[in-house]
Amino acid sequence: MSVVDRQEWDVVVVGAGGAGLRAAIEARERGARTAVICKSLFGKAHTVMAEGGIAAAMGNVNSGDNWQVHFRDTMRGGKFLNQWRMAELHAQEAPARVWELETWGALFDRTQDGRISQRNFGGHEYPRLAHVGDRTGLELIRTLQQKIVALQQEDHAETGDHESRLKVFQECTVTRVLKDGDEVSGVFGYERESGRFFVLEAPAVVIATGGIGKSFKVTSNSWEYTGDGHALALLAGAPLLNMEFVQFHPTGMVWPPSVKGILVTESVRGDGGVLRNSEGKRFMFDYVPDVFKEKYAQSEEEADRWYDDPDHNRRPPELLPRDEVARAINAEVKAGRGSPHGGVFLDVSTRMPAEVIKRRLPSMYHQFKELADVDITAEPMEVGPTCHYVMGGIAVDSDSAAARGVPGLFAAGEVAGGMHGSNRLGGNSLSDLLVFGRRAGRHAADHASTRAGARPRADDAQVDAAAAEALRPFSAEGEEPADGPPENPYTLHQELQQTMNDLVGIIRREHEMRQALQRLAELRARARRAGVEGHRQFNPGWHLALDLRNMLLVSECVARAALERTESRGGHTREDHAAMDRAWRNVNLLCALTDPSGGLAATDAVRGQITLTRETTEPIRPDLLALFEKDELVKYLAEEELYE
Ligand code: FAD
Repeated sequence: MSVVDRQEWDVVVVGAGGAGLRAAIEARERGARTAVICKSLFGKAHTVMAEGGIAAAMGNVNSGDNWQVHFRDTMRGGKFLNQWRMAELHAQEAPARVWELETWGALFDRTQDGRISQRNFGGHEYPRLAHVGDRTGLELIRTLQQKIVALQQEDHAETGDHESRLKVFQECTVTRVLKDGDEVSGVFGYERESGRFFVLEAPAVVIATGGIGKSFKVTSNSWEYTGDGHALALLAGAPLLNMEFVQFHPTGMVWPPSVKGILVTESVRGDGGVLRNSEGKRFMFDYVPDVFKEKYAQSEEEADRWYDDPDHNRRPPELLPRDEVARAINAEVKAGRGSPHGGVFLDVSTRMPAEVIKRRLPSMYHQFKELADVDITAEPMEVGPTCHYVMGGIAVDSDSAAARGVPGLFAAGEVAGGMHGSNRLGGNSLSDLLVFGRRAGRHAADHASTRAGARPRADDAQVDAAAAEALRPFSAEGEEPADGPPENPYTLHQELQQTMNDLVGIIRREHEMRQALQRLAELRARARRAGVEGHRQFNPGWHLALDLRNMLLVSECVARAALERTESRGGHTREDHAAMDRAWRNVNLLCALTDPSGGLAATDAVRGQITLTRETTEPIRPDLLALFEKDELVKYLAEEELYE
């Protein structure tokens, strides 16, 4: 039996991005002793990369905005597959969460009359994104971090120990959620620097680990996005919802190769940037789908007038939801009208004076100048789609953020599914983190208080099994002599990324996804022999070998669900089923682990590790449906839903 440090907490939050920190603050404020664990340094979570802003219907720039309009936009963006109660709560509570951030010290950009400024973004009817230049995520994390330090100072004043009620374990990776029977009993993890194992026992665990983008070759996501939380939930017995929906942001850098995929914020288009092909044509006018025809300008003149007079003109088609713009760019490049490096042109230089560009888009100016030697105040950028966000995630209860089927498990932020339906609108993630982070923290603390008398336990057998699993890469060799030598985790990761990019990427085809599943099965078999040299002290190869389990699990979910959904909707585009099909509007796809004992079954190329089931979504509440015109609902809802 390995010697493993054990500590007891009430709530453990896995992840210190916006969702995790907001959950931890709430849990601590409700009296729960709360631990936060994160892979990176405290304050360096992926959320710091968020650029454009946080969506909240405060109505500061256009008084026509309110939660109902935000709700409508979110449902349209998600093509009505959103878990509608989440979309409702999100639209209602986001303004309070932004104002709360301000009371905690966040410094947002202001309007001329001193209110929090709000900017335009794709799919949002009114200017709605509160922002701090194009570095909003940094300010959000800085503020939450500051709030945590303030709480720790309060605790120090009372108990003499800063970390008595709220402690951050940074540079640590969780590899298993532990259970007592059906219930959560804690987590198993290791310190990345020393490699030492530890167990935090707790009756409530909040998963807030972010996304999955590192399974794809071209991505805007950071190194942390290996789908850990998705996999932890699956392994603990909780299903994942609608994993086929992966957002490809339309504008990532395409050149030079070393920076391919890095995000070019949507604020560039929100602030007036336009997309052109190699013939100089503003091509987005050719790609406005029927469901959005009445809401978008038909001519360049009308689109340009909208920036000054949004009440009497329709918005430019560059501000369609991301899935539409990404598909349009893809089509232009495929038709041979792309830029020299396989993207299209995004131009602000002819639309705004240089000093305005530098003031409103400082990070973009520096990013292009330093990484590509392009001066965006004088020349266009070259951009193309990049894997950006996963709409699919842990299936949760809308109100409490409780994961389905595993008492004590909660999820919030990008790792949770449902809120964004088939496609997320820009800015709706940062607001999602705060709204559902807070809810997860509150319900986790409440759950923990109900278990105070009889805490669930993490038995030694589970801890030993988790330790053995984590140590496996140090003794990796085939179970049979014929299996061959250990595999290099970096090679496996590259092959996985290439497979997902090529075969389950922005445009999907049945035969390619079948091929992907076959390759994933082969990679899974090889990954069992992923081997590393050296020891447990900071060993990136070992970390990657462990992350591979998660990326392979999640990738299989994406591929299986994408194969099953025979329509195109939001972040899931099938070349062989090109239209959105109303019959699929009320269908959720759930992925669960085939081997519910939590062990990873040996390779089964045919069945894989995942069982997929369909379920019918809960009918949308009539008062929420009444917020839409009937003519619009006809485009989305299935026949029987309209009848009802
Ligand atoms: P994260 O902030 O990613 O935090 C995840 C945390 O989990 C990290 O602390 C990580 O270390 C930890 N973790 C992961 N795995 C483990 C493990 N196994 N053990 C322990 N800890 C673990 N959205 C908007 O709304 N507006 C924007 O303007 C915007 N701009 C963006 C710009 C870029 C470049 C990118 C990439 C995304 C942008 N997004 C934006 C999306 C948004 O930033 C993310 O969806 C959001 O920040 C996710 O937050 P989170 O709290 O769920 O996860």
